[in-house]
Amino acid sequence: KVRVRFAPSPTGPLHIGGVRTALYNYLFARRHGGDMILRIEDTDSNRFVPGAEDYINESLAWLGIKIDEGVREGGNFGPYKQSERRDIYRKYVKQLLDNGKAYIAFDTPEELEATRAATPNFQYDASTRLGMRNSLSLPAEEVKSLIDGGTPYVVRFLIEPGRDVEVNDLLRGKVTINSSILDDKVLYKSADDLPTYHLANIVDDHLMEVSHVIRGEEWLPSAPLHVLLYEAFGWADTRPDFVHLPLLLKPDGKGKLSKRDGDRLGFPVFPLEWHDPKTGAISSGYRESGYLPEAVINFLALLGWNPGDDTEIMSMDELISKFSFDHCSRSGAKFAFDKGRWFNHEYIQATPDAELTRLFRPVLEANGVNPDDFGDDYITRVISLVKGRVNFVAELWDQSKFFFKTPETYAEKDIKKRWKPETPQLLAELIEQLRALPDFSSAAAEPPVLEWVAAKGYHLGNVMNAFRLTLVGECKGPHIFDITELLGLEETVRRITRGIE
Ligand code: GLU
Repeated sequence: KVRVRFAPSPTGPLHIGGVRTALYNYLFARRHGGDMILRIEDTDSNRFVPGAEDYINESLAWLGIKIDEGVREGGNFGPYKQSERRDIYRKYVKQLLDNGKAYIAFDTPEELEATRAATPNFQYDASTRLGMRNSLSLPAEEVKSLIDGGTPYVVRFLIEPGRDVEVNDLLRGKVTINSSILDDKVLYKSADDLPTYHLANIVDDHLMEVSHVIRGEEWLPSAPLHVLLYEAFGWADTRPDFVHLPLLLKPDGKGKLSKRDGDRLGFPVFPLEWHDPKTGAISSGYRESGYLPEAVINFLALLGWNPGDDTEIMSMDELISKFSFDHCSRSGAKFAFDKGRWFNHEYIQATPDAELTRLFRPVLEANGVNPDDFGDDYITRVISLVKGRVNFVAELWDQSKFFFKTPETYAEKDIKKRWKPETPQLLAELIEQLRALPDFSSAAAEPPVLEWVAAKGYHLGNVMNAFRLTLVGECKGPHIFDITELLGLEETVRRITRGIE
C-alpha cells in the first residue's frame, strides 16, 4: 500500500518549496489510493519556533491538502510528533549499539572543534575514530564509568569504509557513492535524550510503513546514509523508495529560491502571512495577498511537473488523476511568480460570482461600504461586470467602487480632455432621453440612445465620455449601459445632474 509522509520541522513558517513537497506527496498518495501522513520532526530543540506547527497545519488546511494521519488526525502509527517518541528511539539506539552498528562517543564540542582546527579536512570516520574518545578507543571500564558518572555522550553510526552504496531514486535512477566519503553521523544525543534527524527519520519511516519518501533535493546527500541505516537495522527489504524533488529556483534561475527573494521582488514565498515571534517581522502570505488556494495549488503543481501535454488549468482532482513522477523534471524549477498571478486571474474567472461575493464583502466593509445596503444580488451583478479585469479579489474594489459610492471628484486629465463647453447641454438632453426610455435594461436602453445621438449629429465620443465621467468619475469601467442598468434611472440621472452643476 502506498503510504507517504510530509515531515516538516517546526523551525519557522512553511516555505513555498515545502508546500510543493507536501503537494506532490499528497497527489501521489491520492493517485494510488494511499495514505498521507503528517509527521512533525521536532528533535532539534534549538531550532524550535513556537507557532510553527500550527502554521503548518493551517497552511495545509487552507490549501486543501488533506492529512490522513497526524498529530491532529490521529492514526494507528502514532505518536506523530517525534519529541513524543523518545522511548521508541531509545530502543532502536540500543539495538544498534548491541549489534555493533553504532558506538558511544564522548568528544566534547570543544574537543571536536580543536581537532578540526588542527586537522585539515577532518572527518569522524574509520580513519580517525580510534584517535578520538569513544567506546571503540577507550577501555570498557572507562566507558562505563563515564556513562555512570553522567558524562554527556552521543551515539555515532559506525560506517564501514570502502563499500559502494546504491541509492535508487525514482526520479534520478541509480546513484552510487562510496561509503568512505561518509562520516560516522551522530544518531543520538544523551544530553537531550533525543535522536538526530537521521535516526528518527529512518525509524519512523519504517514503523509508519512508509512506502515512498518524497522530499526535497537537499536530502539527496543523506540518502546513502539512510540506506546504510536501513541495512543496519535489517530493514533493507522493506526500505521505502526515494524521490528527491528538484529545487525551486529564483525567478532568474540563478540559485535556490530564498525567503528574502519574496521581499525583494514583491511576491509571497509563504502560504500564509507569518509573524516572526522573535523579531516581530511580518512576511507576506499568499492567502493574505488575495490568492485563491486552488490557484496556488495549480501554480505550484506545475513548478517541476507537467501532465504530459500543455494543459495548465487543473483542479486538485485533475492533478491527482494525472500525477506521476514520469513527468517530473530533474532540474530546478524557476519560480515564475507572474504565472501565479495569471493563475489567480483564471481562477477568479472560474469562481462562481456568489462565492466571489462572499469573498468581496469584507473588502467592501474595509472600504466603508456596508454590503447589506446593496444586497448580495447587486454585488454579484457588479462582480460579473468587472471581474475580467482583476487578478485578485481586493482589486474588485478599484474596478467597482463607483457602483457603491457616487464619485465625489472627477479625474483631472479626463475633465481636461472630455469636458467641452457644450457638454452640459448635451447631458441635459441625454437626461430627457433616458427618462423617456420604456425599458432601462442595458440591451433595451442602448439602441434608442445611440439613435438619438446619430439623429442629432452629435459626436458619439463626446456624449459618451462625459456621460461616463459623471457616472464613474473617470473614463474607465465596463460597458456604460451595463453600468446604468445596475445604478438604475434615478441614480444615473442624479449623477449626470451633479456633473452638469
Ligand atoms: N524534517 C525534514 C525537513 O525538515 C524532513 C526531511 C525528510 O522528508 O526526510 O525537511
